[in-house]
Amino acid sequence: MITRTSTTLEPVNWQRQLAEAISDPATLLTSLGLSTEAFPGHELAAKQFPLRVSQHYLRLIKHGDPTDPLLRQILPLGQENQVIEGYSNDPLDEKDAQRGHGILHKYKGRALLIVTGACGIHCRYCFRRHYPYSDDNALLHWEPMLQQLNEMPEIREVLLSGGDPLTLSDRRLSSLLDRLEAIPHLQRLRIHTRLPVAIPDRLTTELIERLASSRLHTSMVIHTNHPRELAEPLDQRLEQLRRAGITLLNQTVLLAGINDELETLCSLSEKLFSFGVLPYYLHILDPVAGSAHFEVPRGKIDQLAEQLRANLPGYLVPRIVKELAGQDSKTPLHLF
Ligand SMILES: *Cc1c(COP(=O)(O)O)cnc(C)c1O
Ligand code: SF4
Repeated sequence: MITRTSTTLEPVNWQRQLAEAISDPATLLTSLGLSTEAFPGHELAAKQFPLRVSQHYLRLIKHGDPTDPLLRQILPLGQENQVIEGYSNDPLDEKDAQRGHGILHKYKGRALLIVTGACGIHCRYCFRRHYPYSDDNALLHWEPMLQQLNEMPEIREVLLSGGDPLTLSDRRLSSLLDRLEAIPHLQRLRIHTRLPVAIPDRLTTELIERLASSRLHTSMVIHTNHPRELAEPLDQRLEQLRRAGITLLNQTVLLAGINDELETLCSLSEKLFSFGVLPYYLHILDPVAGSAHFEVPRGKIDQLAEQLRANLPGYLVPRIVKELAGQDSKTPLHLF
């Protein structure tokens, strides 16, 4: 039984929230009762990759705490400006995997479509922060991408990615789905998104109903890194999705100072489950320039892996993986 009384939606509400995202670090810090002087170099870091945070996410950040794990995911820091060996602009060699027109084809049967360069929130650890979105035709029109997909009969599953595919309007997503559904060899659709965490209202009834009516078996992988990111009204929206038959998974990036403690990761897995979401991947950070301060040492990763297995039921233990260029899947912990 779907009750919608508490989730009656104003269709353009989320777009207004997207437009009202904060992009000025001083505004952010002042509203949290923090001084800008405490963060030297943040202006330069914000010039390289701008701040972007929704009012909803801002409300989840603890007031007056410069080390808050949610704040640290979005606040530009002087540390990002350091050039560190081994950290580059394209750590995954994605340029090699491109089939053109916004299609990344790395793994058998699956193709990742970069359908937009825009995001609802900017994450400082993002491995695509230097991605040359503006060079990508697909962002302007999808025709060549769809044509190419048509000619790739081995592809069974398409992943919508970006950027964040849910920054597209329901109308645009729906017309993209129409086109994907018309490609006979496609069976599954997967949406990778962090927008539900930034703006839960993005999960509109219209979107949920459109996904539910698709002939493609659909899953949504939300990206959360900390249990405090799972807050009302996200639980209600995810429940609607789940009741509509959409499989819900989560992926997390392991980040020093944010979620590299057993207690945080256990609580994240348990809270995800209470929101109807299963943990899927726990990604080791990609060495993208500007993110070295998030790196967790190997010894600690091994220890966390062991502790997670010992403390959680198997189905709540995320697969710890790293993305290595040129491999035929994400690489599991024991192989890197
Ligand atoms: C991660 C990724 C996928 C999905 O991999 P799964 O193991 O199926 O989740 C597909 N394509 C690309 C390019 C990816 O980076
Ligand atoms: S939402 Fe995803 S793609 Fe966008 S900045 Fe964050 S990690 Fe990167």
